[in-house]
Amino acid sequence: MSNPSVSFEATREYAYGLDQVDTLFPFRERFLFPQHNDKDALYLCGNSLGLQPKSVGYLMEKELKDWAKYGVEGHFKATLPWFSYHHIFEERLGKIVGAVKDEVVAMNTLTVNLNLLMLSFYKPSGKRYKILMESDAFPSDQYAVEMQVRMHGYDPADAIIEITPKPGAHLIEDVDIFNAIEEAGDSLALVMIGGVNYYTGQFFDLENITKAAHKVGAYSGFDLAHAVGNVPLHLHDWNVDFACWCSYKYLNSGPGGVGGAFVHERHFDNPQILRLAGWWGNEESSRFKMKKGFVPQRGAASWQQSNAPVFNMVAHNASLDIFEKAGMPALREKSLLLTGYMEFLLKQITHLPFEIITPSETQRRGCQLSLRFYDRGREIFNVLTNAGVIADWREPDVIRIAPVPLYNTFEDCYSFYELLTTIE
Ligand SMILES: *Cc1c(COP(=O)(O)O)cnc(C)c1O
Repeated sequence: MSNPSVSFEATREYAYGLDQVDTLFPFRERFLFPQHNDKDALYLCGNSLGLQPKSVGYLMEKELKDWAKYGVEGHFKATLPWFSYHHIFEERLGKIVGAVKDEVVAMNTLTVNLNLLMLSFYKPSGKRYKILMESDAFPSDQYAVEMQVRMHGYDPADAIIEITPKPGAHLIEDVDIFNAIEEAGDSLALVMIGGVNYYTGQFFDLENITKAAHKVGAYSGFDLAHAVGNVPLHLHDWNVDFACWCSYKYLNSGPGGVGGAFVHERHFDNPQILRLAGWWGNEESSRFKMKKGFVPQRGAASWQQSNAPVFNMVAHNASLDIFEKAGMPALREKSLLLTGYMEFLLKQITHLPFEIITPSETQRRGCQLSLRFYDRGREIFNVLTNAGVIADWREPDVIRIAPVPLYNTFEDCYSFYELLTTIE
């Protein structure tokens, strides 16, 4: 289907027909849906918190039993030994973010990982001390960057370069980022950008941002909170220096779920790259020898601090199994069609005061669409909520909806559209 929107139809029968030929449709059955009036809610909020895989309950119980059965010996005797628990994620995460095995690790949480990695990769000296980021980044990222520059003795107003949309526009053009990087030149130490913007749903050109950063001698790092499990990523091939993400959004690993980190292979043997240390980042063969002198293991895993939060990782394991079975290429293929269909339907609505601010070019977005209301946004959001839609409201004027290819259907898109048509 080269341009499916030409043949899209705004009818329930048509949407139902697309579901019938969707090979990923059965994956919906693997998730638990919040209930509204004894029916599945219309869940369009997987960008904020992914749904619980049904397998989590069973696997959690199994882990509890291993703890009861083995006590401390579970570190080596549990079905999935806790000593090496974090290793079970590397390969599956690698496929999702486009990395080789040792480049990824499941550890800590997102903002912690962002701070750990900036401590390693933001090394201002002389006239090279600036960090370039997008304006209106997620607040956690803004705070983290602000304090990193202050901890090195710089003034955020001087050391942080923020790229803003052109006056009147909602989106930042990639070319404006490239130009700003070039202009900052050798004053630039680091480019740190949210891979998919949480507010607009815009997917930045991470490959070319990385190229531009490297050209002026800066590192590039990305916060992939809204990108991981959503858009195609090739961090290794793109030569990205570092990245981090959370697992509770598209990766469905539960509130506060374990985060993830990527460090490019070419930095593994670089003695200039230092990191905060803890015993779990130490060489595994000597981890329990309790000797002096930190010897980092080779790879992203050397950024680990503490022993793995196993119970927190149970849901991650359950969810990554589902991703492994579905496969990112198939998920992306469905996602393009599903979000394309949602966009088509929304464009039929002319009686409500909103516009879609997410890019219309499919390579510049994931599954999320951000609807900016000129008026009555909050009121319309409340009507939707009362009708059983779970979406999210972002101040000051945006409703974000995310048809997630793992568990949303074309009929979900139609139901959302139908509801909008009934609002006066
Ligand atoms: C969701 C999100 C966060 C949340 O950070 P936590 O450390 O997981 O609480 C941070 N940054 C971005 C861009 C996000 O989308």
